[in-house]
Amino acid sequence: MTLSHSEIKEMLSLGEIEAEGLFARATAVREQVCGKFIYLRGLVEYSNSCRKNCFYCGIRREMPDIDRYTLSDDEVLDAARFAMLHGYGSVVLQAGESTSRSYTDRITSLIRRIREITPASVGLTDEQTRGWDTSLGVTLSLGEQSPETLREWFAAGASRYLLRIEASDPGLYASIHPRGALHSYDRRRKALEDLRDAGFAVGTGVMIGLPGQTMDHLAADLLFMQREQIDMCGMGPYIDCAGTPMAGCELPSGKDRIYLTLKMIAVLRLLMPDINIAAATALETLDPQGRIKALAAGANVVMPNITPGAAARGYRLYDNKPLPGVLDTENLGFCRGKAGDPLHYKLRRS
Ligand code: SAH
Ligand code: SF4
Repeated sequence: MTLSHSEIKEMLSLGEIEAEGLFARATAVREQVCGKFIYLRGLVEYSNSCRKNCFYCGIRREMPDIDRYTLSDDEVLDAARFAMLHGYGSVVLQAGESTSRSYTDRITSLIRRIREITPASVGLTDEQTRGWDTSLGVTLSLGEQSPETLREWFAAGASRYLLRIEASDPGLYASIHPRGALHSYDRRRKALEDLRDAGFAVGTGVMIGLPGQTMDHLAADLLFMQREQIDMCGMGPYIDCAGTPMAGCELPSGKDRIYLTLKMIAVLRLLMPDINIAAATALETLDPQGRIKALAAGANVVMPNITPGAAARGYRLYDNKPLPGVLDTENLGFCRGKAGDPLHYKLRRS
């Protein structure tokens, strides 16, 4: 549907009680257009090494005293087999940004090997997997990459890519990143275009509750996503992280950031009924029920963390990041064994 900037701002300013109506409307649209089920993706935090220095992030290059790790191929493949076995249908490989040739090659080979995993190869029977896709969907979230690298990874079998614009306003973007080519807003925009050109289903998103962020920024973020005709969105609250340049900034309360995020999700669902919207992990840092609430506000994807040994590893983007827990998926009606490309992507590619 079409909404004006001021209509969106009004919706984002709704009080707690009135917002319930908005969430119900968004849920009705989601159920009607995307179906009643939720998709699960297994999130694999592949490496916390990063060449960038984003001011908000706990694994930025200059973050002192963190043990940098990269998972072994076997660890990634074990996690992918776990995802297949549990009917997740799809995995997300996420990491800090690296662009070396050896890294690119390793990712290419991992994508191919993940795609070779079948239900039978993890011991599931035809009976158990009737109606399932025969291979896992692969989503990447590996930062800005060259068009060649993106084409290579797409050809290897990855079909979706998440790259948040973080803040669609160039001024706000500049205020949360160092200056220079490595952190350029234009480069990030170009990377989003390159993803689409390479054939990926394109996911983006923003952080909500950033210092200096206004309702105007957030309304413009939603219109940006609609204008760009994205296929997927992951957006979540900004969370303070000790040791980063942005630590200690004054922020809206946790509750306000949660509600703003839920309202952002709901309005986006009305604007773009057929995209996939993820319930971000960061919601859970501020509210144990955060992700469940997002699913009741228009989101249709959850990404449980399945990184082997995740608890012991330093993929700490922000303080109090939730450990992989048991999300009560049983009652959510999740769709088993389906890669689950966004309807929006299927329609624009058909
Ligand atoms: N390096 C890749 C992917 C890993 S970072 C990239 O930057 O695209 C994944 C996401 O974590 C980022 O897009 C950012 O939105 C989020 N993130 C980082 N620090 C955060 C913080 N302090 N609070 C909330 N989200 C954060
Ligand atoms: Fe690196 Fe991504 Fe963190 Fe920026 S947000 S420092 S690119 S991991």
